[in-house]
Amino acid sequence: MTIAYISHSDCGRHDTGWAHPEHVGRLVAIPRALRADPELMLSLLHHESRHATEAELAIAHAPEYVRQVRDLVAAGGGRLDADTVTSEGSWDAATAGAGAVLDAVDMTFDGRAIRSFCAVRPPGHHALRAHAMGFCLFGNVAIGAHYARQKHGAGRVLIVDWDVHHGNGTQALVEHEPDIHFVSMHQWPWYPGTGPAEDRGSHRNVWNVPMRANLPRATYVDALRSAVDSATEKWTPDLVMISAGFDSLAGDPLGAFTLELEDFDLLTRELVQRAESWCGGRLVSALEGGYEPERTARACVVHMRALGEPRA
Ligand SMILES: [Zn+2]
Repeated sequence: MTIAYISHSDCGRHDTGWAHPEHVGRLVAIPRALRADPELMLSLLHHESRHATEAELAIAHAPEYVRQVRDLVAAGGGRLDADTVTSEGSWDAATAGAGAVLDAVDMTFDGRAIRSFCAVRPPGHHALRAHAMGFCLFGNVAIGAHYARQKHGAGRVLIVDWDVHHGNGTQALVEHEPDIHFVSMHQWPWYPGTGPAEDRGSHRNVWNVPMRANLPRATYVDALRSAVDSATEKWTPDLVMISAGFDSLAGDPLGAFTLELEDFDLLTRELVQRAESWCGGRLVSALEGGYEPERTARACVVHMRALGEPRA
């Protein structure tokens, strides 16, 4: 059973400045943490991602927005939203980030790697159809979900987002498609202010799980588990995707959830077990937030180990 670790050095060329919470050090910390687990490091298939094409980005985004980002970056970069900046490397970074998820989808369907973790930045889950938002340029996971349906005939795709912030962009990019089910657990009230439980999307294919800050760890785990259960009741996905934001770890500067590394180990194993019963184990995970770089990197390692060892 092959688990892939997918990344691209271009993801480090999205230069937001070291004062920005979403800085390149987040990504650099991951291979460093992985080297501390040589057994895992040697067992993973290390894959350098391709760059998504403009047509592939336009699976989920307005073509004119894709061109706007491309042209802004070509002109040297600039600001796209209050929190979202670009530099001259941002186009290559963002297309590599989306391309990583597309490669992961290809690899799970052609059998090269049943499960993958995409260590990418910028993150994606706040990006809207025609707007950047919240550090995100393109909706990596949402694009991947539509791509899996179009390119590989995946009928149903389940997306689980455990980032501490609502995946408002992912919701906006998938809620029109009833065969994509989206589960997002997030701190409430908190940025970006969307995602109340009543917001189920027009097809009722969205499960928002707003949660107060500083609750006992198990409360978050139980809430996410029961939302996944609801989203998959009499509905079996052909692919499971995870928006793996690790700003839901205790101590993250941009969130106040209390999750620990062990919780991500457990959640990952449970989702892998379910993926095995639903769809031959196919699972694609991509990094979203996580702003304490060393903790985030350790969580990524725990997550990757659990992708390969579903049973405790
Ligand atoms: Zn976040």
